[in-house]
Amino acid sequence: MAPVVLFAGNPEKRAAYGEHLPAAAAAAGIEIDLRLDPADADPACVDYIILAPDGPVTDFTPYTRLGGILNLWAGVEAALGLDPPRDVPLVRMVEDGLTLGMIDYVTGHVLRHHLDIDRYIDSAPIAEWEVDYPPLARDRTVGILGLGALGGACAARLASHGFNVIGWSRRPKDIPGVECRSGPETLDETIAAAEILVLLLPWTDATSRILNARRIARMPRGACLVNAARGQLVDHRALLEALGAGRLRHATMDVTDVEPLPPDDPYWSHPRVTVTPHIASVTRPETASQAIIAQIARHRRGEPFLHVVDRARGY
Ligand code: NAP
Repeated sequence: MAPVVLFAGNPEKRAAYGEHLPAAAAAAGIEIDLRLDPADADPACVDYIILAPDGPVTDFTPYTRLGGILNLWAGVEAALGLDPPRDVPLVRMVEDGLTLGMIDYVTGHVLRHHLDIDRYIDSAPIAEWEVDYPPLARDRTVGILGLGALGGACAARLASHGFNVIGWSRRPKDIPGVECRSGPETLDETIAAAEILVLLLPWTDATSRILNARRIARMPRGACLVNAARGQLVDHRALLEALGAGRLRHATMDVTDVEPLPPDDPYWSHPRVTVTPHIASVTRPETASQAIIAQIARHRRGEPFLHVVDRARGY
């Protein structure tokens, strides 16, 4: 019998997933019984929930037959906040569209800061014809905190562009062209070396305000920050102080503690801050459907899911 798959995402996305999930299942040669609305599914018969934590399913108690909960987001703190059953694997989203979007965003903002493009776009014309050549990418050090699905892919792309990339993660990694460091003892020196620092860590107990005042003070003079992960990784007061004092050149903030960012937040008007409204990347229905179906197919074959959340670590 075909497994019952409940799409519990944003109702506006039902049409897209209603098209792409069956197409992906057909392409993979598996059958699914797809329900796009919880009202159309007997909870006791649902095998897999495709979950948006701000979607229609927030209580898993009636879903007694679940084989897996497939989160539509890469970040899992909101899904964990719903307290899903511990004996059911919670799987985070890893899919090509999400990864490619993040590569574009991070590469774009790193190149912008590397070339100091704002200087020529935002400022008054440089009447003195001041010639100031940027260094080559190979002479620019980019630090990336978090070398998972997204950070690892961005690190590899920036390295292939020529940047001197130092990556940092919890466990050791091997990414061609990237100097991979791991463990708490190498964090401060990684931050101290990064002229452009990219945050792609999950928000967990261990990473909350990881970029604190002491570490911000260790960033090289004139360094730039690109936070594409979560606002809660950063001590905002310390960051604003460092930007205000001119010690840091710029911060690109795609994420903030409160979203939408309130209109009176100092980030909006700060000349050294760019706020983007959490658009660094997004789960794309077509490629996400392929990833979801591949996960379900694995599970039907008796193989474990990939990218299962470690509840103790929070990601
Ligand atoms: P992931 O695959 O789980 O990777 C997380 C990385 O962070 C891993 O390399 C992990 O190390 C490392 N890490 C976690 N805790 C650590 C710690 N305490 N110390 C050192 N390293 C630690 O996650 P992902 O898919 O790359 O996504 C990363 C984050 O991006 C998400 O959690 C989400 O918050 C954010 N995000 C933002 C957007 C946006 O539009 N702005 C879109 C998608 C995702 P190990 O490899 O050793 O486990």
